[in-house]
Amino acid sequence: MSERVIPLVDQRIASLAAPVPAQPIVADGLLSDALGRPLSDLRISVTDRCNFRCNYCMPKEVFDKDYPYLPHGALLSFEEITRTAKLFVAHGVRKIRLTGGEPLLRKNIEVLIEQLAALRTPDGQPLDLTLTTNGSLLARKAKSLKAAGLKRVTVSLDGLDDAVFRAMNDVDFPVADVLEGIEAARAAGLGSGEPGHSLKINMVVKRGTNEHEILRMARHFRGTGIVLRFIEYMDVGATNGWRMDEVLPSADVVKMIRAELPLVQLDPSVPGETAERWGYADARGRHDPALGEIGVISSVTQAFCRDCNRARLSTEGKLYLCLFAGQGYDLRALIRGGASDEDIASAIGAIWQGRSDRYSELRSTLTPDTGPATRRVEMSYIGG
Ligand code: SAM
Ligand code: SF4
Ligand code: SF4
Repeated sequence: MSERVIPLVDQRIASLAAPVPAQPIVADGLLSDALGRPLSDLRISVTDRCNFRCNYCMPKEVFDKDYPYLPHGALLSFEEITRTAKLFVAHGVRKIRLTGGEPLLRKNIEVLIEQLAALRTPDGQPLDLTLTTNGSLLARKAKSLKAAGLKRVTVSLDGLDDAVFRAMNDVDFPVADVLEGIEAARAAGLGSGEPGHSLKINMVVKRGTNEHEILRMARHFRGTGIVLRFIEYMDVGATNGWRMDEVLPSADVVKMIRAELPLVQLDPSVPGETAERWGYADARGRHDPALGEIGVISSVTQAFCRDCNRARLSTEGKLYLCLFAGQGYDLRALIRGGASDEDIASAIGAIWQGRSDRYSELRSTLTPDTGPATRRVEMSYIGG
């Protein structure tokens, strides 16, 4: 086996200015990028810290006690996040996902949720407001999150076997506590059960590490109303030592489950959906809604850049146009420099109009010299 090289980089040093264009760009909800893609989804990282050390995201060797996490003053405050989010919503964003790091570690996160839940789209609709969490604090927080206005959550869970789970989170965290968190989220009503609005579980599949957990997970969540989604292990960041041979293609995941539990393919529930949906079939081969569905997210083997409508706001207020971008645009400098809402909205508009990112589509043609390589931003910093 070849030895892993884990480069140490600090993506936060590099950033791009977010210039205010000479011609104002009015936020009319009709923004589209250079490839004709709208802006409808915003992911906001609220902290770069985490209490887990998943090897594929924040490997212990890099994110150790000496790692220079952002100081509190560098983080966008809740007021700054809400003000920026409002401008994104005016540009067409309808869905906001809070992430991190571990978003439930951000103190008083409920206050931010309350502020975001009060936002309305230009046609007066509430946002689809959600959060991705490792579930470790969910048992404690599910009720207060729901009360603050959170609609649903996605919980990351890479296996049911306690030893496998403890090894993957690399801090010896027991799986039972996450399962308790999932139950608390369900009991609190986080996830209505309607298609697209269910409580979801994300499982990152790493060949050689947890593929034997796939069927067990499928059986566990089948018929519960919870949607289990399998995510291909991605080459995000610069520290996880990613190798293609550790990616188990989604097609193999579907094949594996199908051999035991019949599946039929379902239509996407919303345009630009990242997951391919498969429903559990009844004896006649038709989807049985009572048995539910799974999703597969093939970020590596089947790029979905064509429909990518997602922007990412980093913990310190930089706008990233792609999960694999090397640099973000410094919106915080505008916010803290006294720019007006119109100017910030114009800057966001101009940045989005110039967007042509489609890393996953190009992945196989990139070499370490032409690709973003070691300058890539860490997922814990811009959020998944
Ligand atoms: N800490 C929270 C959690 O784990 O749910 C939120 C942040 S985490 C970065 C968001 C999602 O990214 C998680 O579902 C995680 O499994 C996924 N993720 C992190 N690194 C990944 C990688 N290399 N490939 C695929 N998914 C990854
Ligand atoms: Fe933490 Fe989530 Fe990354 Fe795991 S995937 S290290 S829980 S941020
Ligand atoms: Fe979107 Fe970039 Fe992922 Fe393509 S690679 S789907 S552009 S985030």
